[in-house]
Amino acid sequence: MSPSLAHACDTAIVGAGAAGLATAIFTRRLNPARAVRLLDGAKKPGAKILVSGGSRCNVTNASVTDGDFWGGKRSIVRRVLRAFPVPDTIAFFAELGVRLHEEADGKLFPDSNRARDVLDALLRAADASGVDLRADHRVLDISRAGERFRITTSRGEHDADAVVLATGGLSLPKTGSDGAGFEIARRLGHSITPTTPGLAPLLLSKDDDLHGQLSGVSHDVELTLWVDGGAASRIRGALLWTHFGISGPAALDMSRHWLRATLEEHDARLTASFCPGLTFDDLERRWTSLAAERPKASVQSALATLVPASAAAALLRRLRIDAATALAHFPREQRRRLVQEVRQQIGRAHV
Ligand SMILES: Cc1cc2nc3c(=O)[nH]c(=O)nc-3n(C[C@H](O)[C@H](O)[C@H](O)COP(=O)(O)OP(=O)(O)OC[C@H]3O[C@@H](n4cnc5c(N)ncnc54)[C@H](O)[C@@H]3O)c2cc1C
Repeated sequence: MSPSLAHACDTAIVGAGAAGLATAIFTRRLNPARAVRLLDGAKKPGAKILVSGGSRCNVTNASVTDGDFWGGKRSIVRRVLRAFPVPDTIAFFAELGVRLHEEADGKLFPDSNRARDVLDALLRAADASGVDLRADHRVLDISRAGERFRITTSRGEHDADAVVLATGGLSLPKTGSDGAGFEIARRLGHSITPTTPGLAPLLLSKDDDLHGQLSGVSHDVELTLWVDGGAASRIRGALLWTHFGISGPAALDMSRHWLRATLEEHDARLTASFCPGLTFDDLERRWTSLAAERPKASVQSALATLVPASAAAALLRRLRIDAATALAHFPREQRRRLVQEVRQQIGRAHV
C-alpha cells in the first residue's frame, strides 16, 4: 500500500490495556490537536483489567515507591511516580466517576468493588477525549517509513509520526498480550529487559514432604533467598502451604526473585524462618525460659507456642524428635537442631 492509502494519525498507541488507555487519554488531554489512534488486537480490549485484583481491581496502593518495582531502571520508575503520584491517581479516577477506598493492607479498590467499572470509566474517558479506538486491529509489524512509522495491522496499514507500544507483558496470554510487542520493539532496534514471571506460587521438591503435611496451613514467616551462597532477598509475610509447595503473599512476592535467579542459572536456595525477627540466640533463650517455667511441658506443646501446632508436629517428625519429651529432659543437641530447623525451613523450590 502506498503511504497515501494508509490511515494517517499523529500518535498511534498499540495495546488498549490499562497502559495504552491511560497513555491515549493523557496524550489527548495534553494536546487535543494530536490525532491519537489506539489499536488493539482484541475484539474487547481491557480483559486484564477485568481479572485484576480478583475482578475487584486493586487500582493503586496508599504508598507506591520505586522499590515496589523490579526489572527495569529504578530512575525511570521514580520519574513516572513523581509525574503521577498516588493522590493524582485517586483524583483522576474520582474525576472519571470511580471513587476508591483503602483497605487494611493499604490497597485501593473501587467503592463498587467491580473491575468492570474501572475499565468502563477508562473507555468512556478515552472516547470523551477523542481517542480513535480500533479494536480487532492486531498489529503485525511496525517499520520506519521516512520520518514516520508504518504500522501493519490485520485490517490494513496505518501511518503515524509517533508510536507507543503498550502491548503488555507475558502474563495471561489469552487476554491478548502474548509477547508479540517485544518482538516488534526488538525489530525496531530496542533492547529488551528480560521478563520474569512474578506473583507465582512455588513448587517444592517432592522429596520433601513438609508441604504435603502442612497443606492448607498459613502462618507468618520470613523468607530468605540465597543466591550463590549469599542472602539476596528477604521477605516477611504470610505463607500458605499447598499440596505442591508454597503460596500466600510472602511466596508470591518472592517468586520473581527466585525465578530470576533460577533463569540466570545461579545456585538458588530458599529458606523460611518460622519465627520472623527472632535470631538463633533469641529462640535459644525462649526455650531455656520455657524449660525453667514449665519443665514438665512436652517439646511439642512448647514448640506450638512458636509455630502452628501442625507445623510443630511435622518439624518434630522430620527431625525424629520424640514430641512427648518433657522440656526438662530435652537434650541440648536436639534443641539446637530444632531451633536451627525452625529458622531455616524449606530447601529447594523449583519452577
Ligand atoms: C490475574 C491478574 C491479576 C492482577 N491484578 C492486578 C491488580 O489488582 N492491580 C494491578 O495494578 N495490577 C494487577 N495485575 C497486573 C495488571 O493487570 C497488569 O500489570 C496491567 O493490566 C498491564 O496493563 P498493560 O496495559 O501494560 O497490558 P495489558 O493489559 O496486557 O494490555 C495489553 C493490550 O495490548 C494488546 N496487544 C498485545 N499485542 C498486540 C498486538 N500485536 N497488536 C494489537 N494489540 C496488541 C492486547 O490485546 C491487550 O489489550 C494483575 C494481573 C493478573 C494477570
